Amino acid sequence: MTAQIIDGKALAEELRQGFKARVEALTAKGHKPGLVVILVGADPASEVYVRNKVNGCLAIGMHSEKITYDATVDQVTVLNKIAELNADPNIHGILVQLPLPKHFDEEAVLEAIAADKDVDGFHAENVGALAQGNPRFIPCTPYGVMKMFEKGNVDLTGKEAVVIGRSNIVGKPMALLLINAGATVTVCNSRTKDLKFHTSRADILVAAVGKPKFVTGDMVKPGAVVIDVGINRLPDGKLCGDVDFASCLEVAGQITPVPGGVGPMTITMLLANTIEAAERKAALAD
Ligand code: NAP
Repeated sequence: MTAQIIDGKALAEELRQGFKARVEALTAKGHKPGLVVILVGADPASEVYVRNKVNGCLAIGMHSEKITYDATVDQVTVLNKIAELNADPNIHGILVQLPLPKHFDEEAVLEAIAADKDVDGFHAENVGALAQGNPRFIPCTPYGVMKMFEKGNVDLTGKEAVVIGRSNIVGKPMALLLINAGATVTVCNSRTKDLKFHTSRADILVAAVGKPKFVTGDMVKPGAVVIDVGINRLPDGKLCGDVDFASCLEVAGQITPVPGGVGPMTITMLLANTIEAAERKAALAD
């Protein structure tokens, strides 16, 4: 059996085209969606992510700007900027690129962003709303994965779903979304005993581990939907996921590639969250 490939790049493009009309309608009413991305330090990977986020906004007619600080900047300066942006009526989304330098209290910075502008969905208020099954902003990567299930007509109800990884950015919100969708969910971590026991009974397997080619074909249930969230840089400079694509392709029913899978969906859902934030604000103003 050769799995069907879930094309994240094509789905991302389709969604982005669909966003343009919503951006135009908002702009015409004086609510052009605006996203600010704050970058502290000069991590090359973060710089690429931030550039792609800003360009993604501009390409569909949104407003977007990047604010950069030297890695030595003090936390108060960044908190003051966030307070200023919270009060700016032209800005609907604020995102602080993670990770922050070690002298920062990451949680304090994320909590400083107004919950109704927290388009990354990391504020405790938004995490709580998601846990209660009534999300306001869904973290972009798992949100993108849910869109892929939707597009692929993957019915999650009653399915065995296994998520490898329990980070606040991917694993935990992914598990909550799967629970909310009616799946039976297992979340694995580095201490999990007999990982293969769990993965090999998963109808839906999501890998968010950060280890190249970690999930191999022998760990996958025949016909499973395999979602590879991982982005790893190999010594030769090439990107690869947490899933060994070649061996899993032969076993899975559906599978996402890297690159061209979950990655393009993440920024797309950031655009979606920012547009939703602007639509909510416009509705309040009407
Ligand atoms: P993270 O914070 O490092 O979390 C990794 C998780 O994997 C942890 O919960 C860890 O368990 C678990 N883990 C590590 N080794 C394991 C093992 N041997 N068995 C089972 N679980 C194990 O990483 P993250 O931020 O969630 O990101 C995960 C991957 O996704 C990375 O490759 C990252 O680059 C990628 N990513 C991609 C996107 C995208 O847009 N596609 C977005 C975000 C992240 P413990 O908690 O016990 O340590």
